[in-house]
Amino acid sequence: MEYICGICGYNAKNLREGPRCPSCGAPLEVLINRRWGIARSAPSMWRYETMLPRSGDIVTLGEGLTPVRRVGGVLIKDETRNPTRSYVDRGSSVLASNIYIDRAVISYSPDLSISLATYLARREIDLTVSVNGPVSSSNEIIEISKLGVRIVFGDLGSNIYYEDPYMIEGFKTISYEIYEQLGHVKRVCVPAEEGVLAYSIARGFKTLEELGIAQESPEIVATTTSHRGVVGMRDVLLKIGGVRIERIDDQDIVEAIIELSSRGIYMRPISATSYAFSKRVRGCVAVITGSEIKRIPYTNPRRIYSGLRVTELQKRIVEVLSRTDKGMTAYEVWKRIGGDSSLRGVYTSIEALVRKGVLTATLSLRGSRKIKLYRVKQ
Ligand SMILES: [Zn+2]
Repeated sequence: MEYICGICGYNAKNLREGPRCPSCGAPLEVLINRRWGIARSAPSMWRYETMLPRSGDIVTLGEGLTPVRRVGGVLIKDETRNPTRSYVDRGSSVLASNIYIDRAVISYSPDLSISLATYLARREIDLTVSVNGPVSSSNEIIEISKLGVRIVFGDLGSNIYYEDPYMIEGFKTISYEIYEQLGHVKRVCVPAEEGVLAYSIARGFKTLEELGIAQESPEIVATTTSHRGVVGMRDVLLKIGGVRIERIDDQDIVEAIIELSSRGIYMRPISATSYAFSKRVRGCVAVITGSEIKRIPYTNPRRIYSGLRVTELQKRIVEVLSRTDKGMTAYEVWKRIGGDSSLRGVYTSIEALVRKGVLTATLSLRGSRKIKLYRVKQ
């Protein structure tokens, strides 16, 4: 794979010098032959597979294809609907589908570490999350610990970066989706701390323009809190063209947080800035980047099996059940597994997994029928 800078055209043969362009500081992108197309039956951002780098099996938990809806008169792109409840899942899915390492060290950062850990666990990569400073949410740390990853304190240095080119390619799918869902829009408003997401979304629209798909890119408004000062990548953002930075007052942020919470959306103050700005300025699509409430949609098989002997069929059963938290009947599991396993074999394996404490069984009513639902024990 080769990498390219979307601002100055610098070409990198590898990432030895890091994920940013050594010439202008912009995050690098993956150099691939892109073709615009939508696989309409794909229920995730992988519907834009021809726009994404791919070197092996896709690691997906159904990320992307998030709804656009109107809340309080504002059109929002609701990224809290992603598997770990933030836009980061888009990047994590592309990265996990293209990475070949045995060990990963991720520095704790809100939204990022839980998402990366979830996706990389799926590749069975040995994971460590290093915490170096205060954590912003106890719920998030609890969920990360449930994944069975190592949590250590201190700065270990990480070997995976937020602005990795594969992450950027995943973030760009937000632009592709807005284009598919709404056609041309005037403005897209994006919360910005460092500015990597705003950069990626701006580049996503430019990519559509470069391919001759979209005639014109929307203006990107990168919003930040007033006390935060400057956005980290301010200079890079301003070089793209069509990007402006707005600071949002605390009062507007607090009002936005309260308003969104009444619609069941809970977020960190920075995430509410795009909504707060879009309340004031018409014609904006506000990207709501993530929810403050986290829940891992997937259980790390290494943690489930530690110290247990399990058969291949039992592993497949756990794999199927770990994708849902609603629970499934033995019959539904058997249907999902397909192949040549018998219903009786599946049933016996499920019962064995219940005895081993890997699965739980609960009785439930479906209509007037009593059914037994199985789940992976959390
Ligand atoms: Zn550059």
